[in-house]
Amino acid sequence: MTAMPTDPAPSPPAAGAGRYAPSPSGDLHLGNLRTALLAWLFARGTGRRFVLRIDDLDRVRPGAEERQLGDLAALGIDWDGPVLHQSDRLGRYDAAVGRLTEAGLTYECFCTRREIHQAATAPHGPQGAYPGTCRELTPAERDARRAAGRPAALRLRAARPDFEITDRLHGRYRGPVDDLVLRRGDGIPAYNLTVVVDDAEHGIDQVVRGDDLLPSTPRQAYLATLLGLPVPEYAHVPLVLNTAGQRLAKRDGAVTLADRRHHGDSVRDVVALLATSLGLSGDSAEELLTGFDPGRLPRTPWILDPDSLVCTAGGP
Ligand code: GLU
Repeated sequence: MTAMPTDPAPSPPAAGAGRYAPSPSGDLHLGNLRTALLAWLFARGTGRRFVLRIDDLDRVRPGAEERQLGDLAALGIDWDGPVLHQSDRLGRYDAAVGRLTEAGLTYECFCTRREIHQAATAPHGPQGAYPGTCRELTPAERDARRAAGRPAALRLRAARPDFEITDRLHGRYRGPVDDLVLRRGDGIPAYNLTVVVDDAEHGIDQVVRGDDLLPSTPRQAYLATLLGLPVPEYAHVPLVLNTAGQRLAKRDGAVTLADRRHHGDSVRDVVALLATSLGLSGDSAEELLTGFDPGRLPRTPWILDPDSLVCTAGGP
């Protein structure tokens, strides 16, 4: 493993913490609320602090954060300390990228999305991974691309093709690392970097989130080890899907807390619905905490028909 320069990062508090980290791009729907509730149950059920972080480097819709926080609080999800914002932490991401760069672990990438897609789908190319086009550019080639005005993203020079993590629900999971983007061409730090830096610096040692993020997790864990940061424990929970088997979205109908209240449901009704979908019973977050057992959670998605609110929860 490459030795990294030391970094004067603030040391995380001693007690562990879980977190929920929504992007403030709109209202939370039942799928988001269910994941948030689970993250809270996992954390509180193990005596951890619970941190709320707003991932606001991208897709910010005015008023969304306030409504998201209001909905979480209404459900009985509480959090410790101030709500954290990624937009306040740009210096921390720059510091992490700087450390990787000093260690020779980054390179500029001038590829467009289209070029990457074409190369990655070439018959004999690597499946879905960055094909490494810009990895070995000569200084002259790099200068030529810069002179042509192409904005450069910054990528990790990964030293291995894959990495294994352990997940509470999925067990051992190995997935590709590839030369992931650390900073996008528009200068915004990439999600895979920010999440790693934030979780470590906020003392998050338990990451509970939707299982659509499982494939990104080996990359994040690998990045954490390169930065000398601890790898949290993971639990990737099943998503909520619509009746067509797609990830639930707002266009699927009455799926936000405000929608459900408009339809005459109380907050307790919504908590009870989420509880049922998880094989739990109770209509308040606090009540669900009693006897919460992650080992008994459903392992399959919850298929939701918002029109009839028919729930076909999968078995454990
Ligand atoms: N902000 C990300 C999202 O809403 C989640 C980040 C995470 O849980 O790691 O998809």
